[in-house]
Amino acid sequence: MDDRQFRNAMGKFATGVNVITTEVDGDIHGMTANAFMSVSLDPKLVVISIGENASMLEKVRKSKKYAINILSQSQKELSMIFAGQIKEDRNVSFESLADLPVIKEANTQISCEVVNEYVEGDHTLFIGKVIDLKLQECSDPLLFYKGKYTSLEKTEEAVM
Ligand code: FAD
Repeated sequence: MDDRQFRNAMGKFATGVNVITTEVDGDIHGMTANAFMSVSLDPKLVVISIGENASMLEKVRKSKKYAINILSQSQKELSMIFAGQIKEDRNVSFESLADLPVIKEANTQISCEVVNEYVEGDHTLFIGKVIDLKLQECSDPLLFYKGKYTSLEKTEEAVM
């Protein structure tokens, strides 16, 4: 099995899109991520997975906390900014949730403290204990499927 085949297989799993945010010495850093999962209800735990080449890796190791910002359909540009798909510097406004920077008007904001870290192959899994969250009644979620951004609207159109 080659890398392309593995990527294609994983891409068949449709996901939402998040921006992970953290702050180190007053500098806010964000990274687009779809490797995210709820882990446990009691205690409330989630997990993210960060690649070994991402600058976010050392930042989360240092801050020992991160926030997950679940993006809405109208926030595709933010996803592109934090994935490095838009190259020019853009000014993004943040607000605060439990002392962590979070993205304004994200569908959901979740602030976490890192309770465990597991290096697995070329990624590191960070288990986060949820310390606060805020749900917004926003628009539909931004989706990612087969390596492309999509939306509930588009998937509904495809079925009809
Ligand atoms: P950089 O490449 O340094 O930063 C990323 C971009 O964010 C830069 O353009 C930077 O200017 C901008 N940025 C950062 N902070 C700010 C700020 N405060 N204000 C304005 N702009 C800012 N990678 C993973 O490791 N795990 C995943 O689960 C994952 N899922 C992904 C899902 C999708 C849908 C996509 C498109 C990509 C995913 N990636 C994932 C890849 C990852 O988003 C990119 O490799 C990213 O560029 C790595 O970011 P970095 O931390 O190295 O930071």
